[in-house]
Amino acid sequence: MILIDNQKIFRIIEERKPKSVALDGPDGLMSKIQETADMIADKFEIPVYIIGDTCWGSCDLNTHAANVLGAEILFNIGHTISMDGFGKEIVMIDAYEDMPFDEVARRLATELLNRNYKNVSLLTISQHLRQLENVRKIFEQSGMSVTIGRGKGQLNDGQVFGCEFYPAHSELDEVDCFVFLGQSTFHSAGVALSTGKQTFMLDPYFQEYTEVSSVAEELHRKAILSIYKAVDAHMVGIIIGIKDGQFAKTRALELKKEFEKVGMKVRLIGLTEITEERMQIFSHIDAFVQVACPRIGIDNHFKKPMLSVPQARALIRILKKEPVEDIFRLSHWL
Ligand code: SF4
Repeated sequence: MILIDNQKIFRIIEERKPKSVALDGPDGLMSKIQETADMIADKFEIPVYIIGDTCWGSCDLNTHAANVLGAEILFNIGHTISMDGFGKEIVMIDAYEDMPFDEVARRLATELLNRNYKNVSLLTISQHLRQLENVRKIFEQSGMSVTIGRGKGQLNDGQVFGCEFYPAHSELDEVDCFVFLGQSTFHSAGVALSTGKQTFMLDPYFQEYTEVSSVAEELHRKAILSIYKAVDAHMVGIIIGIKDGQFAKTRALELKKEFEKVGMKVRLIGLTEITEERMQIFSHIDAFVQVACPRIGIDNHFKKPMLSVPQARALIRILKKEPVEDIFRLSHWL
């Protein structure tokens, strides 16, 4: 069961006495967030606005919506990061899953020892961070050596985002394989792509483990295909995400210069939600590069190439007839 740190919300409201507050978080937590909103409204008798737009991470905080609604504090629920918030207005609220990994972790430890793996690195996303130490003990009791990689920027130790994998790279050479805690092929396949090492996903709900190489290989194949489809493009649309945590105008302008040097025309586009439907209105553009969220084009289907920053850099290298290295073997994909 997911547990939201409602006590922290109550404490902050008692201290600051706002006239209204806003709540947002991922779609999967929305029913819990609505319960939290009811509790706040009953306890403090102030308007509580639930922001119903998508909220993919700490990069996607919906601050504009909170400002337009006039909410004095925006509580972002379920995206634990190494910081408590952004300024006074945005407060990050933890939401933790209490489902244990013990049984499936023991089974995977046995399997890895049978394969002669001795050094594992544990990774996870925010809702399972509190389980890392317990799973570490289980693997160590089985006789394995365990690493929990150092966090960096917004990432805590052992934590990854879908585009940021610093803890996976902190002791990469010493690690035989990665074990990702959580039911997310999105994140675990990202780890496999970013590190090039075998990655196992531990699912606490079904108590199953899965090796995600085939998912990662499929994403890689699709990403490379998109790059080669863009080679003959005359006009490239560079999309700048308007969400505050995904805003990368400088990167867009750098890429614009690079594309123009290799003879491509560039059109700059500002957009909040980058979807296939919105792309339909740009019929004269042959290929898109988006500098918002690296996973948009990798994990979703677009009719025309929709390249992330590493893919765009690879395209430029191909057009310059330079060799292309493994494009996702990076700790950060922006
Ligand atoms: S993968 Fe996309 S949504 Fe996730 S943290 Fe990175 S930019 Fe944000």
